Amino acid sequence: MTDTQTLMERRARLLGPNMSTFYEEPVHLVRGAGAWVWDADGRKYLDCYNNVPHVGHCHPKVVEAICKQAGTLNTHTRYLHEGILDYVEALTATFDDPLSTAIMTCTGSEANDIALRMARAVTGKTGVIATDHTYHGNTLAVSQLSRTNPPPGAWDNVAFVTAPDSYRPQGGETGMAHARAFAADVEARIAELEEKGHGLSALIICPFFANEGFPTLESGWLQPAIDAVRRAGGIVIADEVQPGFGRLGTHFWGHQKAGFTPDVVTIGKPMANGHPVGGVVTSPHIMTAFREGFRYFNTFGGNPVSAAAAHATLDVVQEEGLMDHARAVGDHARDGLRALAGKHACIGDVRGSGLFFGAELVLDRDTKTPATAFTKRIANVMRRKGVLLNFLGVHYNVLKMRPPLPFSEQDADLMLRTLDEALAETPLEA
Ligand code: PMP
Repeated sequence: MTDTQTLMERRARLLGPNMSTFYEEPVHLVRGAGAWVWDADGRKYLDCYNNVPHVGHCHPKVVEAICKQAGTLNTHTRYLHEGILDYVEALTATFDDPLSTAIMTCTGSEANDIALRMARAVTGKTGVIATDHTYHGNTLAVSQLSRTNPPPGAWDNVAFVTAPDSYRPQGGETGMAHARAFAADVEARIAELEEKGHGLSALIICPFFANEGFPTLESGWLQPAIDAVRRAGGIVIADEVQPGFGRLGTHFWGHQKAGFTPDVVTIGKPMANGHPVGGVVTSPHIMTAFREGFRYFNTFGGNPVSAAAAHATLDVVQEEGLMDHARAVGDHARDGLRALAGKHACIGDVRGSGLFFGAELVLDRDTKTPATAFTKRIANVMRRKGVLLNFLGVHYNVLKMRPPLPFSEQDADLMLRTLDEALAETPLEA
């Protein structure tokens, strides 16, 4: 067995410095099943965080599909093969009209990069608007959309709007007043981009604002901003890398829950249960403009093994009714968090949808002062107690849970009991 220190040193030497790991004491995982993972010492952890193994770690149906196709044929995407077509047919059936065509990629970053190019192709403009607390990936172009981890030399054609915060809404008002304040911010950024000569090609947003702390926003909340984008001739790109594939419990896609149909949707992470697959879904009109504007080719995107992995994952979500399961267990978990809030004053807000949920921790409920350092300590205490979760949000004080979908009510109860203990024994200090 290799100890943690040795692995960390090898990692830095072989993969370079500054590669982040979760937790003060990184976890060395060797095995997973369902919502559980095991470390090299045989210790078991409840996985409340990994959205990549969407239908459960090492789901047998996905493992079998990968093995079977890998033992039959894998090749690049310039040969004819039914696998990609059968998958895209099944995938696009989960979307509303006119989202009926797709490009398969290997990552969410590539998908967003393509989406930006589609926006250019169809609008002839280059300006892009994103929120000031998002992440859309790691290519040179999409890394420009991240204010939280900006690359040197910011591009002039990217403008940022303030990420929505339902707990401390801009202008102090919640609901549609908050929505109009957000739309006014979008309109101001459009005017800036037009003044600079870029014009507006796209607003790119996660419809659930997953990296921004998943604020509670009613269906239709985004409509004023979307109207402003369309009035300016731009398109709306929904980055569904985190909320998609039924995780939210009520709808298969985050934009369906948010009550709008985007022009382009990008997907990734949970798409093939850990096998690297991403994609872009759009209308035939935008797809044609893109295909005619750019000679795009992707060696691995949608290869037979990746298509088989993605198709098996989608089948499992549907056959096992995992979306409904996510709703029921998510409701149960949030009820439990609200009950804990009755006991622990540091829980300022409980929110989320389905199996994408969490709680915002504050030092004082009246002032809503973010308990940033405390939240980080709680995540580390939970890890020591065998429950894996993370934290994020504009102030990095939102406990974030996004477990594999087989996560059960008993798993939720274990998480809640452990969180109760962690909150009770950790001093609430800044
Ligand atoms: N969009 C969002 C919202 C993401 O959270 C991520 C990854 N964290 C990406 C895009 C990029 O996906 P990938 O790492 O597969 O390139």
